[in-house]
Amino acid sequence: MTLAAYTTRYLPESLRGLFALALDLHWTWHHGSDELWRTLDEDTWNATRNAWLVLNSVSGDRLEEVAQDPTFQARYLEQMAAREVFSSASTWYSDSCAPALDRGIAYFCMEFGLSESLPLYSGGLGVLAGDFLKAASDLGLPVTAIGLLYQQGYFRQAISRTGEQLEFYPYNDPTMLPVSPLRDADDEWVRVVVPLPGRPVRLRAWRAQVGRCELLLLDSNDPRNEPGDRGITSELYTADPEKRLQQEMVLGIGGWRLLRQLDRKPLICHLNEGHCAFALVERAFAWQDDHQQDFETARTATRATNLFTTHTSVASGFDLFPASLLRLYLTPWLASRDLDLNGLIALGNGSNRGQAQPGECAEDECRLNMARLALNMSGRFNAVSRIHQAVTQNLFQPWFPRWPAEDIPAGYVTNGVHTPSWDSPESDALWTRTCGQDRWRRPLERQCPMAEVSDHELWDMRRAQRKRLIRYLRSRLASQHCEQAFPSDRDAACGVLLDGETLTLGFARRFTDYKRPDLLLKNPERLISLLSSRDRPLQIVLAGKAHPYDQRGKQMIRQWKTFSRRPEVEGKVVFIEDYDLGVASQLVQGVDVWLNCPRHPWEACGTSGMKVLVNGGLNLSQYDGWWAEAWRPEVGWAIRPGATVEQLRNARDHDRQDAEELLDLLEYSVIPAFYTVDDKGIPHPWLEMIRASMNGLTAAYSANRMVRDYVAQFYVPMAEMGAQRSPEVARQLVAQTRALAIHWPHIRFGTFSVNTIGESQTCTVEVYLDGAEQDEVAVELVAEASDHGPRVVATMTLVYPLSGSENTFLFEASVPARPEGHYTPRLRPRDERLNLPLENPAILWMK
Ligand SMILES: *Cc1c(COP(=O)(O)O)cnc(C)c1O
Repeated sequence: MTLAAYTTRYLPESLRGLFALALDLHWTWHHGSDELWRTLDEDTWNATRNAWLVLNSVSGDRLEEVAQDPTFQARYLEQMAAREVFSSASTWYSDSCAPALDRGIAYFCMEFGLSESLPLYSGGLGVLAGDFLKAASDLGLPVTAIGLLYQQGYFRQAISRTGEQLEFYPYNDPTMLPVSPLRDADDEWVRVVVPLPGRPVRLRAWRAQVGRCELLLLDSNDPRNEPGDRGITSELYTADPEKRLQQEMVLGIGGWRLLRQLDRKPLICHLNEGHCAFALVERAFAWQDDHQQDFETARTATRATNLFTTHTSVASGFDLFPASLLRLYLTPWLASRDLDLNGLIALGNGSNRGQAQPGECAEDECRLNMARLALNMSGRFNAVSRIHQAVTQNLFQPWFPRWPAEDIPAGYVTNGVHTPSWDSPESDALWTRTCGQDRWRRPLERQCPMAEVSDHELWDMRRAQRKRLIRYLRSRLASQHCEQAFPSDRDAACGVLLDGETLTLGFARRFTDYKRPDLLLKNPERLISLLSSRDRPLQIVLAGKAHPYDQRGKQMIRQWKTFSRRPEVEGKVVFIEDYDLGVASQLVQGVDVWLNCPRHPWEACGTSGMKVLVNGGLNLSQYDGWWAEAWRPEVGWAIRPGATVEQLRNARDHDRQDAEELLDLLEYSVIPAFYTVDDKGIPHPWLEMIRASMNGLTAAYSANRMVRDYVAQFYVPMAEMGAQRSPEVARQLVAQTRALAIHWPHIRFGTFSVNTIGESQTCTVEVYLDGAEQDEVAVELVAEASDHGPRVVATMTLVYPLSGSENTFLFEASVPARPEGHYTPRLRPRDERLNLPLENPAILWMK
C-alpha cells in the first residue's frame, strides 16, 4: 500500500470533511452520521459498519450526486457542526480535574475492541480496553492508547453441519480499516525501530481517532523487514512463545519509543494486563537517558506513575518466557544498558524457586513472568472487582514472602461498560427523555427517574427490542446456510420458529471450560421441559468462539448444536456463528435475561452482563465477579448468592449443584415472573425488577464510573506521588533501601512482654536495629481475626533506646486484650514517600 492512497481519494470540495468524519471512530457509538454512510453506500454500510470503507469504495459519480443533494448536504453540514461542538465542548475532565493530568495517560493493551470494523481484539480484555477509551473520550480525559495492528486479527468462526467449529483468518487490509498512517510534524510516516537479534525490526505507526482520544497502533509489515519479521504482528494470541515475545517487545519497547519519538511525555503509564510490561522498562531507560542515572534510580523515579491492572485469576494465566529465549531476544536491547538479563529476570522472576537473586537460577529453570515484572516496575496495581482483589492478593502472595495475603496492597476498580456503545435505539430514546442528551458524558449521580416511565411504555420498549433481535437472528441464521445444512427442518434452522413474545435467554461468550457454557445441559430433560412448555416457553440464543486449540470448548459447541437439533426443542435454541462486537450488541439489546455461570474463581469480573442493563435486560448469574457486588434480590438472580471466596475456594466440583440451582431459578423464579401478567398482558413484577436494575446498576457499572474511579483512586494520587520523585529523591530512596538491606540480615527482636490491665494490654518489644535508622522502620503488632475479635494491626511506638546495649530500642503499643500468643510483633521498612510493601516487601516477624 502507499501513503498516497490516503490523499488521492477524490472528494468534492463541499464534502472534504467526510475524511475526518469517517476516520473518527466516534461513529461507532454516536450514530449521528449513520445516515450519511447509509446514503452513500447502503450495502457496504450494512455489511461492514465501516464508514471509512464506505467512503473509499463509493464511486466518484455517487459522490458527485450526493454533493448536489440538498438533504445530504444539510445532514453533512449538521454533522460537521456537531463534531466541532463536540471537540470544543467543556468536559468532566476540563471542569473538575484539569490540569492535574494534562500531560496525559498512556494506556497499553495487547488488544482493543472498538468496533467489529476494526478487528484487533479477541474478547473481554480488548472490549474493556475499547470501552475504556471511549469513556475517556466522553469524559475528556487525555488518554493515548497504544496497541498492535494485527494483519489477521482474531479468527472468524463458522460451524459445520456436524457442529465442528471452522476457523477463518481473513486478512486485515490496513487501508480498509478506519485508521490512517501516523505522520510526524514533517508529514513523514512515523516509524519506530526495535532491535531484534542481528537485525532491527521497523514498525509502521498508525492512528485511530477515538473521539477525543487517540489509539496508536504498530505493525511490523514493513517491506524492508525480513519476511519472518513482517509477520510478527500477524495474529493475536499466537501459541508460539517466540512470536509472543516478539509481539510483547514490539508493543512495549516499540510503544514507548513511539511516544518518545512523538515527543509525548505522558504523566501516567497504565498497563492493561502484564503483556506490555517491557514498556515500563523502556520508560526507565528513557529516563536514564534524560537524567544520566543508574537503572535502579530510574526504576524508583518512574514507577510511582506506572499503574498495572491485572485481569488474571489463575497463575496459569501469566505469560512466562524461558531465559534461553530471552537471552536470544533481549540481549541487543539490553546491550548498552546497566541492566543485564539476570537483573531483568530478577525483577520478574517466575521460577518455581521463589525469590531467586540475579544469577541464581539455572538457565533452564529461569522464567520471566510478565505480571511480576509489571508489578516490580509499578507504583500501584489493581484488580478488577472486589472478589478479584482477594483472588489477586492470594495469587501475588508468593511475590511478597511472609506477608499475609490481606496486607498485599492490591486495589480494585470494578470494570464497567461504555453505555452509549451498548444501548438500543429504543432505550436511547427512553433515557434521553428521562435523563437528557449528554447523560453519558458526565457522572450520572442523579438516580434516573425510571419511575416516571409507565409500565406500558417500558414493556413496549422491551417488546420492540426483542422483536428486532428476532428479526436480526432470522437474517443471521439465513446467511448461516440454514437451507443446505438442515434440509428437513428448514424453518427451525432459519429461525422462523423463534418467537417475538417468548422469554428469551442469552448466553454469549468464549466457549471454554471455566465459563461452563454446558451448565444448562447437565440436565437436558429438565431443560427440554422448560423450553417446550406450552404456556410459559423459553427460548435460548447462544454465541461464542472456542480458541482454536481448545478441544473442550469446541466440544461444548458441538453439544449445543446437537441439542438444538432435537425435535422437542426445534427452533427454540439457536446458535449464532462468529460472535463479535456486532453480534454482542444485538444480543444485549434484545434478550430478556442474560446468563453468566463461570466456575469460581476464574472470572475476574465479567462484563457482558453489564451490557444488558441500559436496555432493561436482567441478569441471571453466578454470584461472582461484578455480580457479587451488584446483586440484590430486587435486581436479578444469583446462583449461590452470598457465597464467600473461602467457601468457593474450598468447594469441589459444584457444577452439578450449580446446574440444579440454575434450573430451579429458571423454573420457579424467572419464568413465573415473566409470565405473570395483568389483563392487558403486562408483567408488573418483572417491570419492577427492570426498573430497579436500570436505575440502580446502569451508571454504577458503566465505563464512565470506571474511568472516574481510575482518575480519583489512582491517576491523581499517583501523579502527586510522582511529582515528589525528583531524580534527587529517587537517588536518596535507592541509597536508603540499599543501606537498610545491609543491616536487614542482622536486625532482630529481643524480649517481648505483655502487661494486661482489664480489657487492655500493653505490649513492649526490644528491637536490635544494627545501626539502621529507627525512623526508617515500622514496628507493628498483629493479631489475626479469631473468636476474640477482628484482625488488629497496631503501630508500636518507640519508647526509648535501651541504654545497656547499642542500637537496641524499646517499642510499645496498647491494644485490646487477647490470649497469650495472639499478638506477634513484626518489623518492616517505613517511608511515606514509598508505596510499601510493594516497593520493598522486606518483613521480619518475631519468631
Ligand atoms: C463484552 C464482550 C466480551 C466479554 O464478555 P464476558 O462476559 O466478560 O466474557 C467478550 N466478547 C465480546 C464480543 C464482548 O462484547
